[in-house]
Amino acid sequence: MLVAGGGFAGAYVARLLGERGATIVSPDNFMLFTPLLPEAASGTLEPRHTVVPLRAMCPDADLLLGSLTAVDLEARTATVETDAGQQLVHWDELVLALGAVPRAVPAGALSFKSLSEAIHLRNHVLRELEAADAELDDTARRERLTFVFVGAGYAGVEALAELSDLTDDALRFYPRLREVPRRWVLVDAAPKILPEIPSRLGEYAARELEARGVEIHVGTTLASSTDREAVLGDGTHIATRTLVWTAGVLPHPLLRELGVPLDERGRVVVDELLRVRDHVWALGDCARVPNRKADHPDPPTCQHALRQARRLAKNLSGDPQPYGYRMLGQVATLGRYKGIADVLGLRLRGFPGWFVTRSYHLYQLPLTSRKLRVVVDWTVALLFKRDVVELGTFPLSEGH
Ligand SMILES: Cc1cc2nc3c(=O)[nH]c(=O)nc-3n(C[C@H](O)[C@H](O)[C@H](O)COP(=O)(O)OP(=O)(O)OC[C@H]3O[C@@H](n4cnc5c(N)ncnc54)[C@H](O)[C@@H]3O)c2cc1C
Repeated sequence: MLVAGGGFAGAYVARLLGERGATIVSPDNFMLFTPLLPEAASGTLEPRHTVVPLRAMCPDADLLLGSLTAVDLEARTATVETDAGQQLVHWDELVLALGAVPRAVPAGALSFKSLSEAIHLRNHVLRELEAADAELDDTARRERLTFVFVGAGYAGVEALAELSDLTDDALRFYPRLREVPRRWVLVDAAPKILPEIPSRLGEYAARELEARGVEIHVGTTLASSTDREAVLGDGTHIATRTLVWTAGVLPHPLLRELGVPLDERGRVVVDELLRVRDHVWALGDCARVPNRKADHPDPPTCQHALRQARRLAKNLSGDPQPYGYRMLGQVATLGRYKGIADVLGLRLRGFPGWFVTRSYHLYQLPLTSRKLRVVVDWTVALLFKRDVVELGTFPLSEGH
């Protein structure tokens, strides 16, 4: 059994297949637990604790570190590019879990999808505070304290909320900047934020963010950008040095070369058993998954990828049943002690919303050792003020 992709969907399928055994092909030896990435960016969590080692998470699986580059559906082989060269792998069943990739990142923008990008964004924001502090010109200071996020899905909403919290906390060290207005702008082409979530969470999050002074521009896109300015489709010009691109992901481009059926958005079409064709299966963000308990295909969320993985592992183990999952609710963090949850019709905000969100993420996080590390980080964050040090920019000294 070959599982292509060690993200949320692929890693859970391999874990749940247990002793049935699987080979995971993944360019990284870890699964990125994306719901915790914004907290890695804001410094609440140690970045390393937001990833789970695949070899520990899936002890019965084999890991082949590399990228799938081609598949022969008739011969049932896959070509994998590894550090040790190209390998031809034979499979009896193939699971496609390649996820999505960001659309082309516009000029002057930063992407936010991987751990290194989260650390880079944190460093960039802290650098802007330093630069604003050093600026003598008031207009330039305001420009450096203006942060624009394009894409109001989970990544954009949570990253904006966490980083605005980080700057609020950091400003205690910058007395000259306290009176300079800060501007946080969230942009999305959809008519509301968190558009992929079919629940009231988006409206709820919008009210919370607006109450904090975040400017929300929905129903418009980024028309053009430079490293000094973002221009929106509605004609708004925003002078900024920080443009974060979390808009629009595309299903993995390799899917187009595999000869599997795709929908108009480029997602693999699967039936209710999550099957593409005989011996080929797909799930997660790269697939269009029909849900018999909902009137629309699944949105691209961890919650759905996990439920699909549970069903697929059973289907591959000889108990094929149609996939169906009724969403019980959705949660999101909006910074330290601030969260929103819409669970079983109950809407929570502030500390209770944050507590429910955290508990839910902790419950989903695999491995007790990972859970404990995260709990320790959160406990330390409760007791101490936020760390505002830049990471990853220490140059290697000569001779090292
Ligand atoms: C910053 C961020 C925050 C998010 N927050 C939330 C949240 O709070 N709640 C929520 O429900 N959802 C959230 N999401 C969405 C969620 O992460 C996705 O829906 C989920 O990860 C989908 O799982 P997946 O396995 O399909 O894709 P991914 O998790 O993206 O995994 C795809 C995997 O395929 C691998 N891969 C790529 N190319 C190849 C190749 N050629 N060969 C082999 N492997 C390859 C990648 O390395 C990756 O490991 C967030 C997403 C982001 C980016």
